[in-house]
Amino acid sequence: MADARVPFLDLRALNEPFRPAIREALDRVMDSGYYLLGEEVAAFEGRFARYCGCAAAIGVANGLDALTLVLRGWKELGQLSDGDEVIVPANTYIATLLAISASGLVPVPVDPDADSFNLDADGVRRALTARTRVVLPVHLYGRMVDMPAIMSLAQEHGLLVLEDAAQAHGATCEGQRAGSWGHAAGFSFYPGKVLGALGDAGAVTTSDPELAGVVRCLANYGSSEKYIFPVKGSNSRMDELQAAILNIKLNELEQHLTGRRAAALAYQQGIANSALKLPTGVLDEHAWHLYVVRCRERERLREHLTREGIGCLIHYPLPPHRQGAYADLSTRVLPITERLSESVLSLPIYPGVDSQSVIDACNRFSGAAWSE
Ligand SMILES: *Cc1c(COP(=O)(O)O)cnc(C)c1O
Repeated sequence: MADARVPFLDLRALNEPFRPAIREALDRVMDSGYYLLGEEVAAFEGRFARYCGCAAAIGVANGLDALTLVLRGWKELGQLSDGDEVIVPANTYIATLLAISASGLVPVPVDPDADSFNLDADGVRRALTARTRVVLPVHLYGRMVDMPAIMSLAQEHGLLVLEDAAQAHGATCEGQRAGSWGHAAGFSFYPGKVLGALGDAGAVTTSDPELAGVVRCLANYGSSEKYIFPVKGSNSRMDELQAAILNIKLNELEQHLTGRRAAALAYQQGIANSALKLPTGVLDEHAWHLYVVRCRERERLREHLTREGIGCLIHYPLPPHRQGAYADLSTRVLPITERLSESVLSLPIYPGVDSQSVIDACNRFSGAAWSE
């Protein structure tokens, strides 16, 4: 992949401009003598909460933990119990389901809308049972779910809403950012995400002070104050160094998103090939974590682009219910999810990507015209 003419993602190059500031931050953190639960994390939490439009953010170890800690927090608060059902899009990354399973809850995967790739209110409505307690929409590829529709359905049925915003830093819906729509949200700062650390990190956002308190406690061994443990927690903390790096990169996030949107616009305008179905949605609301096209002859397209030196990947080749880990879900009938997994292909997208080479390579592909 590294020798592709247009790499799918070159994290080293993307992080290079931050090197001087990161060096300075490393010195600052070393000199402070505080490597956990210090000022860098506190500063990042405050700034990220404000950025998302939430009352609170809690820095945690990774995105999977962020989602898990919210669900466990709701259990501690008596809002959920073992065996409760959580509705989740079937075409998500497996971590979304793992968070549910790890919390003693039951994932109920539902087919997404094939056009937006996202969970929609009708799909949720069809999957409701007497045990449904949570809806877990995933802003897949950086495009936000239709949150007003999800929130009003949730209100109607008394459900909690947890946004999986791992791919959607800075994405908006009706002018309001991801992470501020649901009762809580989980973010990942895995290096390849829209806002990425130089290692693992994650955050919970919420405007519920009670939940924020419990999540903070659970992420620090269940400690409410030093050596006092009201609940059985875990160790899931963001470290000072990652927080310092995220503080630096958060300054540039809007500019970074502008670069991704410029690449998406170039693709929307430049790719003219009936074999490829381009993504839909409002360009400027999307965080464009991934630019995902669909093709009936996906494998041929992948081989063609690889030959042309264009890095591309499949997100995701095998949905969770087809994995060994979720053999218990293998009999679910999820035709849209199956079709998506067979037809999606992600093109390179990041600020400064050589979009013209990608466009030319896509336009040189000849294959069967797209049809659903
Ligand atoms: C990356 C990702 C996660 C997990 O985040 P980690 O920080 O890798 O644990 C969860 N959900 C989705 C949709 C993701 O893309």
